[in-house]
Amino acid sequence: MQTPQKLLLENRAWSEEISKKNPEFFKLLAKEQKPSFLWIGCADSRVPADTIVNAQPGEIFVHRNIANQVINTDFNCLSVLQYAVDVLKVKHVIVCGHYGCGGVKAALMPQSSKLVITNKWLMHIKDVYRLHQDELDIIPDDRRLDRLIELNILEQLYRLTHTSIIQASWKHGHKPTLHGWVFGLHDGLIKELIMLDHNTQINPIYRYHD
Ligand SMILES: [Zn+2]
Repeated sequence: MQTPQKLLLENRAWSEEISKKNPEFFKLLAKEQKPSFLWIGCADSRVPADTIVNAQPGEIFVHRNIANQVINTDFNCLSVLQYAVDVLKVKHVIVCGHYGCGGVKAALMPQSSKLVITNKWLMHIKDVYRLHQDELDIIPDDRRLDRLIELNILEQLYRLTHTSIIQASWKHGHKPTLHGWVFGLHDGLIKELIMLDHNTQINPIYRYHD
């Protein structure tokens, strides 16, 4: 049975196992963090960032929300991005979505009167659908969701390039690379959809003046 007590017991066992293998592990972990990666992923319990890339504590700075979105009025995500880029100086920012995403699936349906707050969050994905409606509407039903999931990931990458944080870092900072990945629930494999670096041409209407 899954209970909070079981989680605490598992935590104790995990800590003891790591300390047995490497007695210095937690001493070093407590000192500082120097992750090379910022991970922006979906909150879905089946896509745990560290687990699916076999990472250890301290390797990945993580932000997760419904359908792995970068919204330019979301101070939560933007604060994480700013800290990761300007202070931790991560080398890579990864947006990882996943096939079978319930958030993207819900965005293709009428709005639920029981989920008024969640509706607002999903509205941004409806906008991605509307932006690509011509392409999406001629795709067979069983492929449409997968394609919108991919397009949603691409859109988040573009939104990252529209932030002052990424633009300033590409111009004057350490130039992190942006990656759009999609995870397959059926085989556990990640596919890279897009990679953008500091040479990327940003649409002038989104560019900041110096
Ligand atoms: Zn999801």
